[in-house]
Amino acid sequence: MGKIALITGVTGQDGSYLAELLLSKGYEVHGTIRRSSVDYRERIAHLEGKPHFHLHYADLGDSMSILGVISKVRPTEIYNLAAQSHVQVSFDSPEFTADVDAVGVLRILEAVRQLGMTEKCRIYQASTSELYGKVEEVPQNENTPFHPYSPYAVAKQYGFWIVKEYREAYNMYCCSGILFNHESERRGETFVTRKITLAAARIKQGKQDKLYLGNLGSLRDWGYAKDYVECMWLILQQDKPEDFVIATGVQHSVREFCYHAFKRVGIELEFKGEGMDEKGIDKATGNVLIEVSPDFYRPTDVVNLWGDPTKAKAKLGWNPNSTSFEELVNLMVDSDMAKVASEGAAEKVRTNLEEYLEKGIVK
Ligand code: NDP
Repeated sequence: MGKIALITGVTGQDGSYLAELLLSKGYEVHGTIRRSSVDYRERIAHLEGKPHFHLHYADLGDSMSILGVISKVRPTEIYNLAAQSHVQVSFDSPEFTADVDAVGVLRILEAVRQLGMTEKCRIYQASTSELYGKVEEVPQNENTPFHPYSPYAVAKQYGFWIVKEYREAYNMYCCSGILFNHESERRGETFVTRKITLAAARIKQGKQDKLYLGNLGSLRDWGYAKDYVECMWLILQQDKPEDFVIATGVQHSVREFCYHAFKRVGIELEFKGEGMDEKGIDKATGNVLIEVSPDFYRPTDVVNLWGDPTKAKAKLGWNPNSTSFEELVNLMVDSDMAKVASEGAAEKVRTNLEEYLEKGIVK
């Protein structure tokens, strides 16, 4: 029998790329979706109707739906990508985040165990560099102690440990990929990288005046999501279940991301001031295009994530730098330039902060 994959969170950034990858490898791919009053299947629209691609309703907060879909699909591999994945939102909805990102993982493991599938089904858990949170040691690898620093990270830490527990207690093939930030043209629009690339495109095309951000000095290790889903698959193809750090090993600041994104649209920025007073100024016109807003600061803020992918390189044979930082920024900006251009004469957004406040997205 061929391989059957179940992807929770298939409508997300990673889920959509992983579904494409597994279909290209000949898998039968099943994905879970949630009922919503608006259409949110944009990222997988091109896959719907394909003969080996199937969708099922399930929610990680509902153990009956999880048990139901696993029992029906009988997957040989489960990729648990579903999560309330936004750190800032986890401060506003900590209980929901814990239910989905922590207990949701347990619901999957327990369903597989209770269905007697432990020897036939491998499980990948989408873990995160946010587990390192406040840790000062860099770069971070599989042996670096965790210090989660948000409700999201704390919930994901439970997910990490319960996977390890089921591996050791029940001899299950389940493991975590500790993935550092990975971005793409499909990244959600409320994540910082996408806010920047969309703003650069809108400002260039005269549809936005200014971009408000949080800490411009925050340091991240950014990779390309399409490269990272390959790793998720590789992790489940090893003889032994093991956890892996997946990162590029190269660190950049939010400020640098802004600089390169605006450069791609032909605007050279210079940064003046510090902390809350820092500003990104268009060198050619003197216009202030980027300002820092306390609305985007978090109650506890992670400022220094930098991954060490040595183990993944050696054991998975994976090349973390196949897409460079600049290539990543460029492809996101190019995609947003086309998107913004196609929006035509849509109403001008003066600043992203106004837009978010109107939609109630930030406090
Ligand atoms: P997205 O936010 O793009 O996708 C999350 C997916 O989870 C969506 O399909 C969403 O469905 C689904 N989901 C949310 N809540 C539930 C629920 N209660 N039941 C079922 N499905 C649910 O995240 P990414 O694709 O970027 O990330 C994939 C995973 O990797 C996540 O677990 C994330 O936490 C983790 N991760 C991501 C990193 C990154 O940089 N991208 C870094 C490290 C880890 P819907 O469309 O209905 O909202």
